[in-house]
Amino acid sequence: MIVVMKVHSSQDEIHGVVKRIEELGLKGHISQGVEHTVIGVVGQIFAELRDRLELLPGVEEVITVTKPYKLSSREFHPQNTIVKVNNLAIGSDEIIIMAGPCAVESEDQLLVTAQAVKAAGAHILRGGAFKPSTSPYHFRGLGEEGLKLLARAREETGLPVITEVMTPTDVELVASYADILQIGARNMQNFTLLDEVGKINKPVMLKRGLSSTIQEWLLAAEYILTQGNEQVVLCERGIRTFETYTRNTMDISAIPIIKKVSHLPIIADPSHGTGKWYLVAPLALAALAAGADGLMIEVHPNPDLALKDGAQSLTFDNFQRLTFQLMRLAEATGRRLAIPSTKVRA
Ligand code: PEP
Ligand code: MN
Repeated sequence: MIVVMKVHSSQDEIHGVVKRIEELGLKGHISQGVEHTVIGVVGQIFAELRDRLELLPGVEEVITVTKPYKLSSREFHPQNTIVKVNNLAIGSDEIIIMAGPCAVESEDQLLVTAQAVKAAGAHILRGGAFKPSTSPYHFRGLGEEGLKLLARAREETGLPVITEVMTPTDVELVASYADILQIGARNMQNFTLLDEVGKINKPVMLKRGLSSTIQEWLLAAEYILTQGNEQVVLCERGIRTFETYTRNTMDISAIPIIKKVSHLPIIADPSHGTGKWYLVAPLALAALAAGADGLMIEVHPNPDLALKDGAQSLTFDNFQRLTFQLMRLAEATGRRLAIPSTKVRA
């Protein structure tokens, strides 16, 4: 349920409505729009609630949200949410490129990749320190040592870093190093983890689950939002279908659907979405054309020797070629790539 306040409603009236909502055992989330302030009501909605709220001073109307997700819906928040990371604005007209290795393997591997992706125009450095692995025999990441290397690479390049957190008890640790916390596809419905990242004041990128519907994905985002963290970015990374040629099937249609039903920014990850390096560029371009706010691309100095996901990783040269194509496509569609960070050393 959404309470739309009158155009000139006062702060006292707005907080009066929130107070009443809380007295009724529900939660009220304020969203300040350009004209109207709206208050999202979440919890067990009951039949007479609409009448009770409509009578309060400053209330214009009360609308029932028909979708099961509320705070992530465009009905609640008509304007796009913009998630700020330093001078970057994810969800604005500017396209953001996140790039780096699947896993942080060594200082040399990370620093050389960070410099290369920065030179090619990337805005954010990615790299896994805690790796979710389908097989327990595969590389599972360097753990905190990997986080320290990411912090070192940020110092060297000025690029903010995104890295995955897998466990609720690691949220504080990962948040102390990362600029954006990533929730991986395998953890999209790890509800205690979602609760935990909902309590921090850092952006969270929520990847779509391997076999999740768009509605399940938005409900997962809802867990983070209801805890009070509004800095949520979605990431389409392919879903499991009957097709085996590709690692996953990149669901390009999810991008305009998310834009229609939600206000949250959406990033596309064609590396995991396809599993094959030569499909990354065409699907990255398709995602951008479909309206993605940014891309996440795996890049490795020597994909043949990568400890993880070498088959889908781009070489430095191929990544540079791709960013050039993305720049041209962005311009052709009336958008542009964000201005890269100019900071060299802290
Ligand atoms: C990753 O980005 O490192 C990753 C493991 O991706 P996903 O969770 O989408 O499989
Ligand atoms: Mn990977």
